[in-house]
Amino acid sequence: MAAGNRGLAIVAGGAGFIGSHLCRALTERGHEVLCLDNLQTARPSNLRLLEALPGFSFIEADVVNPLPAAVAARAGEITRVYNLACAASPPQYQADPEHTMLTNVLGTHHLLRLAEQAGARFLLTSTSEVYGDPEMHPQVEAYRGWVSCTGPRACYDEGKRAAEALTFDYARLGRAAVRVARIFNTYGPNMHPDDGRVVSNLLCQALSGREITVHGDGSQTRSFCYVSDMVEGLIRLMESDIDGTEPVNLGNPAEMTVNELLDRILAIVDTEAPVVHKPMPQDDPRRRRPDIGRAQALLGWAPQVPLETGLARTAAWFAEEIGATAALSARATQCA
Ligand code: UDP
Repeated sequence: MAAGNRGLAIVAGGAGFIGSHLCRALTERGHEVLCLDNLQTARPSNLRLLEALPGFSFIEADVVNPLPAAVAARAGEITRVYNLACAASPPQYQADPEHTMLTNVLGTHHLLRLAEQAGARFLLTSTSEVYGDPEMHPQVEAYRGWVSCTGPRACYDEGKRAAEALTFDYARLGRAAVRVARIFNTYGPNMHPDDGRVVSNLLCQALSGREITVHGDGSQTRSFCYVSDMVEGLIRLMESDIDGTEPVNLGNPAEMTVNELLDRILAIVDTEAPVVHKPMPQDDPRRRRPDIGRAQALLGWAPQVPLETGLARTAAWFAEEIGATAALSARATQCA
């Protein structure tokens, strides 16, 4: 379909990791895309690749501030508003916690108002962090979470919870048609090598022979979803005609410890890098795995890319990015 036939999609945070894949997929599916990004954690090279796509445009803007007049001026063309604007890696979102909180609250407010004005559908990318350090396992959407509102993760966790509350109020008041995705750990190409999350850290450390940093004893778990699966889930959620008044978990239920993740990485990267154990960060969740029953039932969605394939692709991409292709094992090339 020609770019633009499905109307204009606003993607706030579109120069970031998931956002850049989403912008590409939306242009391929017939949307014109206007990306808003403050370039705080985005990679400029993500943007350069997107700018070559037909139907893609970019405005540098921080959603904490009222949106640029040039965005509101196009309200008549806007059919979809995706809100992915927020640093998502713990070291990044904790570096400026006030900004993180305001991005979630004020940013969501500005984008909801835009969707209301345009009569467009709105999708909030919320997070598994709304479940905090969960006492229920796996996490279903009905679980209300165990979140600290005083700790260093609160700017993100509570910011996203406030963003959800505001989004569902807009829906209840009939002011916008909304969707809320709770995204679990996602990885893939276009992540920043210095992003600080576990997949990018461990892969880049192994590839470059630097110390491999495992927090605590490495027995904490996460469930890792490849980025193309995540983008497919987000678009299906936006385009589905479901009643949008319930959040939907999106993630890969294949749960593993950080130690198991490291073993998988060491199977595809030839490295002499030493493993060092660092203190466990405060409030770091012990276990995390999505229950994706709702996404399966409502959207017919489930992750398709196995970790072995996704990790091999991501390793090859990082190796290119940081100039360490020699460290890739033959197995990585086969899997990718
Ligand atoms: N982690 C680690 N080494 C690192 C970075 C992270 O062991 O270099 C741990 C982190 O403490 C957490 C898990 O890996 O237990 C996932 O961390 P990440 O920052 O990727 O995301 P989170 O799910 O905590 O937001």
